[in-house]
Amino acid sequence: MKRIVVLGGGESGIGSAVLAKIKNFDVFLSDKGKIKEEYKKVLAHYKINFEENRHTEDKILNADEVVKSPGIPDKAPVVIKVKEKGINMISEIEFAGRYCNAKKICITGSNGKTTTATLIYFLLKNAGINVGLAGNIGKSFAMQVATENHDYYVLELSSFQLDGMYEFKADIAVLLNITPDHLDRYDYKLENYARSKFRIIQNMNDDDCFIFCADDKITMAHIEKIVSKAKKLPFSQKTTTTQGSHIEDNSLLTKVDSNVFSILIDDLSLKGRHNIYNSMAAAITGKVLDIKNEIIRQSLSMFKGVEHRLEFVMSVGGIKFINDSKATNVNSVWYALDSMSSKIVWIAGGTDKGNDYNEIMNLVKEKVRAIVCLGVDNSKIISFFKDTVPVIVEARSAQEAVEKSYELACPDDTVLLSPGCASFDLFENYEDRGEQFKEAIRNL
Ligand code: ADP
Repeated sequence: MKRIVVLGGGESGIGSAVLAKIKNFDVFLSDKGKIKEEYKKVLAHYKINFEENRHTEDKILNADEVVKSPGIPDKAPVVIKVKEKGINMISEIEFAGRYCNAKKICITGSNGKTTTATLIYFLLKNAGINVGLAGNIGKSFAMQVATENHDYYVLELSSFQLDGMYEFKADIAVLLNITPDHLDRYDYKLENYARSKFRIIQNMNDDDCFIFCADDKITMAHIEKIVSKAKKLPFSQKTTTTQGSHIEDNSLLTKVDSNVFSILIDDLSLKGRHNIYNSMAAAITGKVLDIKNEIIRQSLSMFKGVEHRLEFVMSVGGIKFINDSKATNVNSVWYALDSMSSKIVWIAGGTDKGNDYNEIMNLVKEKVRAIVCLGVDNSKIISFFKDTVPVIVEARSAQEAVEKSYELACPDDTVLLSPGCASFDLFENYEDRGEQFKEAIRNL
């Protein structure tokens, strides 16, 4: 019996272990930290052997194959040992892909993955397609392959998942954009990170489609170097496309072969320039799958968006509150500021991942009335913007940030939480930060 060892007992690890068990492998799961109670119950239910708070090498290095969770870096000692022994190591998506004949629509990019994957899932559901949503979202792909039966999957893929994929093939691949992020895991080389993103099109044939942003400089610089049989379908807000999607007469115009779809930009439910890109990617996917224009139109105009991404919370005293807690890099903040039509009180800060605020300087100058720093160490933001923004104050909790913002804002302003930083200094994660922000607004 072949032995599969799963490293990491989070969502993807548990799914992989269950799938391996169902496929009759000898399975062992190992997590260096604690495993959540709910996951331990699943492991017990499927009678899967596991350990937590340690990696016992004797039980790991005898594997025929290792499935590694995307969260474990290549530099982790256990990963180095597995590699030294020459054991094949793959990601959950690669593993589950072996047992899944469904059509796979895969979404990657530095920003917009969850929004676009959820939008495309919504579109396919509306078209009556039996579809699952997985990857970085909700229930893992492996668990769904083990316990459900879908004809299509929409998979949100991070570069870490793509790194462990070799034979996997997407039927439709969407690459939204490439901006520097997570470079610490790529030897600080943008080239390596970009190459990882491009793995999304590996193994594609000429009846597969590659949807990408023609306005994205890094994508375009790399695309020339890559040989792929896939049909290329670009989207752009700056140029016209013969195949793919672009803007014409205030409409988003999409063409795949001779199949045309158009929708007024004002009719898109997701606002902001970045969301036009996301909607274009969804519209192209809809046309590739030959979904009726009426359904694509309905879906793009009815989609409610995803929590914590430019989420409108409520208006209090004529002041609009928007929760963009998921904006953990400067590029996302750029799109958030760009999409606001009023003056802004901007709540920013947290754990800085090497931010370069020059990118947003002009927008801040033009639109930001005051900054409320929500972080433990706010010195970088303060020194960067002290000559540009007249009022900069600090807050140590979401409650304090909301109260101070409310005082600083004038009627018709927007209070925007779009931190541009990770949340771990003051919060459990970005969801926790967004929840606390919303709770504080309700308490005003
Ligand atoms: P991801 O899953 O890639 O992290 P999300 O959909 O969760 O992306 O959005 C993360 C942040 O990026 C949010 O602040 C959102 O408003 C912003 N965003 C969404 N789509 C794009 C895009 N196409 N380009 C740039 N930023 C985007």
